[in-house]
Amino acid sequence: MVDIATSTFGDLVQPFQIETFGLRGRLVRLGGALDTAFENHDYPLPVTALLGEIMALAAVLASGLKYDGVFTLQTQGDGPVTMTVANVTSNGDLRGYARVDEDGQAMESKDAPVPRLLGTGHMAFTVDQGTDTERYQGITELTGDTVSDCARNYFRRSEQLDTAIALAARPGTGAGGAQASALVIQRLPPDAGAVMDQDQYWQQAVILMSSVTTTEMLDETLSPADLLFRLFHQEGVRVFRQRSLRHACRCSRKRVATTLRSFPRAEVEAMAEDGLVTVTCEFCKAPYAFDEGDVARLYAP
Ligand SMILES: [Zn+2]
Repeated sequence: MVDIATSTFGDLVQPFQIETFGLRGRLVRLGGALDTAFENHDYPLPVTALLGEIMALAAVLASGLKYDGVFTLQTQGDGPVTMTVANVTSNGDLRGYARVDEDGQAMESKDAPVPRLLGTGHMAFTVDQGTDTERYQGITELTGDTVSDCARNYFRRSEQLDTAIALAARPGTGAGGAQASALVIQRLPPDAGAVMDQDQYWQQAVILMSSVTTTEMLDETLSPADLLFRLFHQEGVRVFRQRSLRHACRCSRKRVATTLRSFPRAEVEAMAEDGLVTVTCEFCKAPYAFDEGDVARLYAP
């Protein structure tokens, strides 16, 4: 088990607003939550940085939405990391995994992770609020070298508010290993009474934000508020109450049973090895074993 207390970076969302610039924003930090998400997976180091950024992106996007349920960011591509999934619930529970084929195990360099690790494909966002249909949020092609390039492309093409984003991650496995951070600023709807040139203010905010370095974003001795003051100090940053995030998997024996029951009984029985059908959670690697009697009960009228 990972001792989460060894990470001082925190797992949190720091919302803020800068009235002068007419913008609001959120800073996300993930530390111990990544350690827990990565344990039992044996990911190559470049994959821990990639998945860290993807989980931080999911958390920062989810924290800007009003929803009651599960936000999902998923990538699919023809690279060695064939799929990644990150879930963020409206309560701040976070989980994620990457599916890595054999080519991915040899990856060492961290340049251009999107073309090199994910390949050609897409990134999709959905919100499941427990109703029959998943609410479709958006989809974007995997473009550019980095996860933030993909996110920028998505924001450019979607009809949302003007948005600027920065992502940073440190690869690592084990306690206090991986860290990831996401910073987003979004332009508030124009204020009709404003006399200032708001386009100019927005441009200025984007320039200030683009000055943030990976080192600053991953500096655990710098509080979220201090980082924001350092970036935007002259402009009067208002920080709101932090919201905490945590790693939590939503898998359970009951959910696995429901999934199994959706397959024909013969198919499930054919999965048995030494009399046991074992299903492993892709997120947390928890094993769920069903013996013959359990399988029979799944299909009992
Ligand atoms: Zn699980």
